[in-house]
Parts: sequence; structure tokens; C-alpha cells
Amino acid sequence: MRKKPKAGREAYLGSVCFFRHLIYLCLFLIVAAPYFCIGALYRQNRELHSQIRDLTLKTLVANFPHKSSLPPKSGKIASNLNYQDRYPDLYCSHQTAFVKKKKTVYLTFDDGPSMFTEKILNILAKHKLKATFFVVGRKDPKSLELLKRIVDDGHTLAPHTYTHIYSSIYASVDSFLDDFNKIHSLIYETTGVKATIFRFPGGTVNAHNRKIYRELSAEMLRRGYIFFDWDVSAADCAKNATETSILNNIINGVHKNGRNIVLMHDTSEETLKALERVIVYLKNKKFAFDRLTNDIAPVTFHYNYFKRRRSIKDGICGQF
Ligand SMILES: [Zn+2]
Repeated sequence: MRKKPKAGREAYLGSVCFFRHLIYLCLFLIVAAPYFCIGALYRQNRELHSQIRDLTLKTLVANFPHKSSLPPKSGKIASNLNYQDRYPDLYCSHQTAFVKKKKTVYLTFDDGPSMFTEKILNILAKHKLKATFFVVGRKDPKSLELLKRIVDDGHTLAPHTYTHIYSSIYASVDSFLDDFNKIHSLIYETTGVKATIFRFPGGTVNAHNRKIYRELSAEMLRRGYIFFDWDVSAADCAKNATETSILNNIINGVHKNGRNIVLMHDTSEETLKALERVIVYLKNKKFAFDRLTNDIAPVTFHYNYFKRRRSIKDGICGQF
């Protein structure tokens, strides 16, 4: 008597086809498992880095209180920290609680004011957006007018540095303070704004300030100033930057649901050309826009001693 052929599922289980599929599945798991593990570790690592950064900032703020509460200085340390006695008015109140808004873009413009700043302000006004301008020292009437307009339009106006010359500003903590005081005063005298945030040229850690960046960062935090690096670089200072490359760098750089501090320069014509498209793209993706203030959780680069470079890769803005 002939055996009845097994039907459906029963016939499949135990068949050659079944074992072939089983082998495929095992091979897929063997190949895919490491990628899943790497992905999970990467996410965990990012979260840890973020926590460490916040903790470092809080620790620095806590360990470098206002001058009035510092212990008396003596011996070698006193001579090394003489800059703490300088510019007794160059302080602001300490901020210790920081907010981290989700799905938000902070457009920041460095190195201005310039011949393009006015048009950039017009575009921001048209879209009813607030942004942040980290400016350098220019005292011609048009530049001073632009500083006033930045403030009148409701944007954040903050120091970058007066000269932006890396070799002099990063020669020592004293040199940086001299320069910072100059641009801080120019902003105050022109607009009445006492800036509480700023941006280091080239970022907190760069090839020009490796010897002093820890001491310098600590001193600026001790004085109450919060500094911001960036999460996304438009790379608009790059030699071959174009409207399209700027847009693509921002599209590829923004974190979908996160906080995004975007580095741009209002000294670049290509940035001016790209700005409208950048704003429309981000608006369509439902990002909120805001300006930086001293209660926004800062992004700060740090030096990675294992890789011998700083942790966030970016382009360094040009020297004057
Ligand atoms: Zn710059």
C-alpha cells in the first residue's frame, strides 16, 4: 500500500528544504549578531559620553566657584593663577541647571558681522526664527549697526573673540582674557548686552590650544561663562563649499529627535544662498528653532587621549 503524502506544514518540517532554510537562518544570525551588538554598544557609549560630559561640566562649575569664595592663594599655584585677579568685572552668575530640548535646531553664525549679515537677518525675520551670532571685533559704523539689529531682532549676540587670531588668543589664559574682555566690552557698549555665553574659535579643543584648553575652560567656567561647540557643522568654511554641500552637510548631520547646534558662518556667501533651503528643509521635518542661552545644555568637545584627537570631528573656521 502506497504511503499518503504528508500535507503542508508536516511535509515541510524535516524536509531538505526545511534544513536548508534552517542553515540560512543560522548563517544570517551569525553574520548579523555582531552588528546588533556593535549597534547596542555604540548607543550605550553615546549615552555614557553624554552623561560624562554633563557631569564634567557640573564638576568644573562646582570646583571653580566665584573669586570671592576661593581660598587664599599661595606659593607656586598663586603665581600660576594670577589671571584670576584680572578683570574683576568680567564675571556672570553661575548657571547650574541646563535644559536639553528635543528635536530642536540652534542655528549659530560665527565670525560676523559681515556684508552678508543683514541679508541673513532678513531671512531669519521672514521665517520668524531666532538664532545665535558669535561675533568678532569690528568697529566700523555698519558693523556696530548690525550688532544692534541682532539684539533688536531678538537673537543672541555673544563673543567669539575680538581678533580671532589663534596664535595670540591661545598663547596663554591671560592673552585669551585680554581678547575676550575687549569683545565683551564692545558688545556691552554697543548694545547694552552683558553676554553670558561665547564660542571658542576652533572649538573648546583644537590644534592651537591643546596646552591651555583645560586651564582656560576652567577659568571661563569659574567666571560663570558657558561656551558652546557644535553638533553639526555646515563646513561652509571649506574651500569648495557650495550651497548644495552646505545643505547636505546639515541634512546628514542633524539628529532626528535630538538637540542640534549647527555651526555656520555669516561671512560666507554660500551660507547666505543655502540658508533659505536649510530652513525650509528643517521646518518640513518639524524641527523647532531656538537661540542659545546660558541655560541650554552645552556641547563641548573634549580631547580623546586614546585616539590623540578631539572627540567630535569638524572643520575649523578660518583665521583672519
Ligand atoms: Zn570662528
